[in-house]
Amino acid sequence: MNHPTCPILFLVIPCYNEEAVLPLTAPLFFDKLRALQASGRIHADSRVLFVNDGSRDGTWDIITSLTADNPLAEGISLSRNRGHQNALLAGLMVAREHADVTVSIDCDGQDDINAVDAMLDEYAAGCEVVYGVRADRTSDTAFKRGTAQLFYKLMNRLGAESVYNHADYRLLSRRALDGLAQFEEANLFLRGLIPLVGYRSGSVYYTRTERVAGKSHYPLRKMLSLAANGITSLSTKPLKMITALGLGVSFISLVMIVWTLTRHFSGLTINGWSSTMCIILFLGGVQLLCVGVLGEYIGKIYAEVKRRPRYIISETTFDGEGKDS
Ligand code: UDP
Ligand code: MG
Repeated sequence: MNHPTCPILFLVIPCYNEEAVLPLTAPLFFDKLRALQASGRIHADSRVLFVNDGSRDGTWDIITSLTADNPLAEGISLSRNRGHQNALLAGLMVAREHADVTVSIDCDGQDDINAVDAMLDEYAAGCEVVYGVRADRTSDTAFKRGTAQLFYKLMNRLGAESVYNHADYRLLSRRALDGLAQFEEANLFLRGLIPLVGYRSGSVYYTRTERVAGKSHYPLRKMLSLAANGITSLSTKPLKMITALGLGVSFISLVMIVWTLTRHFSGLTINGWSSTMCIILFLGGVQLLCVGVLGEYIGKIYAEVKRRPRYIISETTFDGEGKDS
């Protein structure tokens, strides 16, 4: 598949309560776009598309003022906060109507925008997907690094394939976006979905730095829920593990029954309060855990069958009406 040599590039940037950050980082995105245009690597119609994810601060005002003074800037605003993944999807789906290629990047300056050059090289070489992979996480706290490491390991063990040390900094061609558009799930975990879209992919390594301002929206609680969401959205392995656990426990119970009966008939039975309590507590715990895991999946099915829109665009700086998906 031959890609255009001078593609229309859209940088897609989700922003949630980023008024402290946007004025500092927006010029970096514009400078990059201008430099790439000047060197003839991307088309003059290339844009920076900011997605306001229902921010409660002045983020949308900043975006609209950027679009007013700068022809390179466009913005869409979601009707409420829908979370990073949905905001990103909204931006990608809007960009898909205008661009040959998109690069999604966080707005906090943590991802090195200069890696876009190498991503475009990979695109020119025929890749439909190029993952931005962190070569170095020394700027993150040891705790964040440790938990993130655990996150990837756990995810892969549990059958949710994802690219190691890759978050949502990636290039997607229009073909890849068309593929992604066919995934209609409400439980979005893009990192796991993109490998399922397929096509030829490449990786570009970059150094992740600290946020230029503001603070992370991914504290431990949200990271854990992202991990749980990723696993249960992409894999049914936990259900299989329950079955295995059930089989194991049943086998142990069988042995215990045989043992109990032997003791009984040999007249050695004692007041078995402790052992009874242990067994009841253990089985109770295991059962509740299993019911909980099943419940997670049922909750997911419930969210999917309702087929609610994943985002609603309330405002846009493009001509035409807002759309939903
Ligand atoms: N973000 C968003 N909606 C949310 C939370 C975050 O659009 O509900 C955006 C945020 O503005 C940033 C990106 O997602 O551009 C990544 O968030 P953050 O930097 O807080 O996460 P971290 O880099 O610490 O994992
Ligand atoms: Mg960040």
